[in-house]
Amino acid sequence: MGIKLDILPLDKWLDTGENPLVISGPCSAESENQVLQTALELSKIPNVKIFRAGIWKPRTRPGLFEGVGVQGLQWLKQVKSQTSLLTAVEVANPEHVEAALKYEVDILWIGARTVVNPFSLQELANSLNGVDIPVMVKNPVNPDMNLWVGALERINMAGINRIAAIHRGFYFFDKTPYRNSPMWEIPIELKRLIPNLPVICDPSHICGERSMLLDVAQKALDLEMNGLMLESHIDPDNAFTDPQQQIKPSELGKLISSLVIREKEGNIEFEGKLEELRTEIDKIDAELIQILSRRMQLIDEIGQYKKDHNITILQLKRWSNIVQNRLRTGVDSGLQKEFLQKLLEIVHIESIQRQTDIYRKS
Ligand code: PEP
Ligand code: MN
Repeated sequence: MGIKLDILPLDKWLDTGENPLVISGPCSAESENQVLQTALELSKIPNVKIFRAGIWKPRTRPGLFEGVGVQGLQWLKQVKSQTSLLTAVEVANPEHVEAALKYEVDILWIGARTVVNPFSLQELANSLNGVDIPVMVKNPVNPDMNLWVGALERINMAGINRIAAIHRGFYFFDKTPYRNSPMWEIPIELKRLIPNLPVICDPSHICGERSMLLDVAQKALDLEMNGLMLESHIDPDNAFTDPQQQIKPSELGKLISSLVIREKEGNIEFEGKLEELRTEIDKIDAELIQILSRRMQLIDEIGQYKKDHNITILQLKRWSNIVQNRLRTGVDSGLQKEFLQKLLEIVHIESIQRQTDIYRKS
C-alpha cells in the first residue's frame, strides 16, 4: 500500500544545517524560572533548534501533576523573545490548539495517548483546518502502524503540510529494558511507506532512564532518523514528571557531542562492494521464499493426506521432535536459539492454519 501525503521536506521549513536536529526541553513546564533557565542553557547548544515543554500533561492516574496550563504559554513566549529557539507544546484537544496559537507557539505535537483515538485526532484536525503551523505526530502507545498513519493522514487532510512523525517507542506486553520498546522495524516501515516524511526519534520516552539515552540516540541516527527529541531539565531529579529520564542541559550537550555522525553514502568502491553484498542477499531471500513455498506445498499435501485418513492436525510429539532437532542443527550453524525458536513457531502456526483450512473444506 503506497501512502500519499503532501509533505514539505524538513529542510524547507527548518534550517538544521549539517547537524542532526535536536528538540529539547523539560517534560513539563513547572515554573517561569525552570522554563527560562533550561531554555537559556539549551540555546547554547547549536543542534538544539526547538524548545519543547508539556503544558497539559496526560497522566495515568488523577491527582498527579497535570501541567501548569495556559500560564506556561506565557513563559514559552518569553523563551521566544530571549532566545532564537522555536517553541513546541503537546496539544490534545481544540482548546489546547486555540490557546497555543494565541500565545504564538511555533510547533504543535500530538502525544502518544491522543494518537490512539481517531475521534480526538479528527477533532484536532478540524481545529487545525486552515491553520499554517507545523505538527508533529507521536506514534500511538500500541504498536499499530495504521493508527499512526491514520493520524498523519487526518492532519495532512486538514491542509497541514509541515508534518513530522515522532518515534517514542511502543507498549510491549513483556518485560524489556526500555520504558517503551523501540520496535525499530515500525518507524523504518513508516519511512518506507512515506519516504518524504521526517521521522524524529524520542529516546527519552523509549528509555525511561538516563543510562541508555546515548545508545538509542546513536541507533536512531544510524537508522537515518531525521532528528532527536530529548527531555532536559535544570534539576532532573526533582522534576515533577519523568525525573529518571531527564538530563541537565550540560549533559545533553555532552551526549550530542558523543554522537557519531556517519556518512549516508560511501565512496564508489564502498558502494560497489555494498551492492555486491546486497545482490547476494537478494538471491538468498529469493531462495528462502522458494523453500518456504515448497514447505507449505508439502504441508498442504500432508494435510490432505491426514484428512483423508481422519487423523488430527496437530501431532505434538512430531512438533517437539522438530523443534529439538532444528534448534540443535541451527545453533551448530551459528544461529541464535531465540531467533530460530521464533522462526519455527511462525512457520508452525502458518502450517497449522493451512491444514485447518484444508480440514474446513468439505
Ligand atoms: C511527552 O513528550 O512528555 C509525552 C507525554 O510523551 P508521549 O506522548 O510520547 O508519552
Ligand atoms: Mn515526558
